[in-house]
Amino acid sequence: MELPETKLPLTENALIVLAKRYLKRDEKGNPVETPEEMFRRVARTIAAADLIYNPQADIKETEEKFYQLMTSLSFLPNSPTLMNAGRELGQLSACFVLPVEDSLVSIFETLKYTALIHQSGGGTGFSFSRLRPKGDIVRSTHGVSSGPVSFMLVYDAATEAIKQGGTRRGANMGILRIDHPDIEEFITVKRDLTKLTNFNISVAITDDFMKALKNKESFALINPRNGKVVRQVSAEELFDLLVENAWFRGDPGVIFIDTINAKNPTPHLGQIEATNPCGEQPLLPFESCNLGSINLSLFVKDNFVDWDKLKETVHLAVHFLDNVIDVNRFPIPQIEEMTKKTRKIGLGVMGFADMLIKLGIPYNSDKAIDIAEEIMAFITRESVKKSAELARVRGNFPAYKRSIWNSPDTPFMRNATTTTIAPTGSISIIAGCSSGIEPLFAVAYTRRVLDGTELKELHPLFLQALKEKGFSAEKIKEILNKTLRQGSIQKVEEIPEDLKRLFVTAFDITPEEHLKIQAAFQRHVHNAVSKTINFPESATKEDVRKVYMLAYELGLKGVTVYRYGSRPRQVLELKREG
Ligand code: ADP
Repeated sequence: MELPETKLPLTENALIVLAKRYLKRDEKGNPVETPEEMFRRVARTIAAADLIYNPQADIKETEEKFYQLMTSLSFLPNSPTLMNAGRELGQLSACFVLPVEDSLVSIFETLKYTALIHQSGGGTGFSFSRLRPKGDIVRSTHGVSSGPVSFMLVYDAATEAIKQGGTRRGANMGILRIDHPDIEEFITVKRDLTKLTNFNISVAITDDFMKALKNKESFALINPRNGKVVRQVSAEELFDLLVENAWFRGDPGVIFIDTINAKNPTPHLGQIEATNPCGEQPLLPFESCNLGSINLSLFVKDNFVDWDKLKETVHLAVHFLDNVIDVNRFPIPQIEEMTKKTRKIGLGVMGFADMLIKLGIPYNSDKAIDIAEEIMAFITRESVKKSAELARVRGNFPAYKRSIWNSPDTPFMRNATTTTIAPTGSISIIAGCSSGIEPLFAVAYTRRVLDGTELKELHPLFLQALKEKGFSAEKIKEILNKTLRQGSIQKVEEIPEDLKRLFVTAFDITPEEHLKIQAAFQRHVHNAVSKTINFPESATKEDVRKVYMLAYELGLKGVTVYRYGSRPRQVLELKREG
């Protein structure tokens, strides 16, 4: 494969990812557009939405602003927008939630919609909690139901079959409430590594369950078909089973469904039952959401955060994301209708770890928590201001009247939510920054380049820091090799202490420290936060249990844990893709 020509400051990795999946290609698979042309196509398509509200709008000027916004790598929209804007598919959102009702018609209709969404690069989340349990009666056939897990396996097989033809591999989130009678089967299904490989799964934990757990009480499992109690279980035993499997495989994660619904901006439209595949976007059935992320690593000027530039970027990004809703081609009419009622957008960040390094702040420090809060409070505040400004001209989102926004303080609001922290698995590679709000994964790595040779490399910021400390090229090479051998810089003796402190990586950081950063962002984000809580291989089940409990107490909407070595590379571990 030939790499596309470009004058943009894109890394080789970025060019490879772009050429493989984002740029227009001919029948032979060779790119027929440059990165500049891709960004131009996206900027032009998204800017055109301004004409809907003002036929005299200067869309050339808006296009230019959007083009600068993306080509400077200050902000990138989620992958489907980059891939599909201005092209035949025209489907621009990363996140969908679809309803699964307790009938064969609903199950298979939703499966059809899922196929259409996967084809366009979107990810789908479902709650299977409405399905009657295994062994329950099916009146029409006088038979028995095979239960939610069996239908999840069908969804998984369908995803597997269509993934070859789509823009990227399909990704699903499967959710089951903790009070569903099939909960044990659900919790343990991924012990078998061949099952549900295209799914992340999460248990929807309720406040009632947490209360039963605290009081060491029994807990009722309920048949959703008729609301009858099927059996009582020990809350502690059920929680132990969940923790054990999360410890063993990293699955299931949990979502705290009552915490999510306490923040549901439009409760009159229904309860939220599920999230998108990586958990950062709770949505109502048939809602979709488009995300975009600001590259924080570019917002450090003379060792300080460049607030003016950040403000300007937030405003432009909200304008961009609101426009996306209007030029989006939705896979089915029900999704268009729901999405346009609430007009949710999810502006977030990437490059947070890089920013901290540039500011000289270790990721696992109180200062990092402070800066996380300060940054995210600022972004959400400014995004709300911009959304209100858009609403004055374009109108409030249609479901505004009975939403939580309807108050004298916020008479105008264009979007029911404005902020979300996405994983940015692919777009952070394009931007060449650390992903989402995750710490660095490594400071030394071996990278396979196009011709198949392997390149040993240091993280550019670490390399720069070593040079500034006066290390010779030879010494740096030695450090590189030692770090590669040991997997972390923490035990390489020639590295100065202050650098060891600053360049901490995911497994040098304790689970509690990971969680505190997640919580700092969650306090200021409308939707949710994608974050992996990393554990060393030696971590115990008790360690995992503590983190789940702490996550609930901190008011998080969900948690995902990963114990080193507990599962082979998986579909949604996007960090190391490309
Ligand atoms: P990107 O960096 O490609 O924009 P993210 O890693 O931030 O995407 O993921 C955001 C959301 O996009 C996920 O939660 C999921 O809804 C969707 N998504 C990510 N990867 C895939 C995939 N391979 N197939 C379908 N949807 C995906």
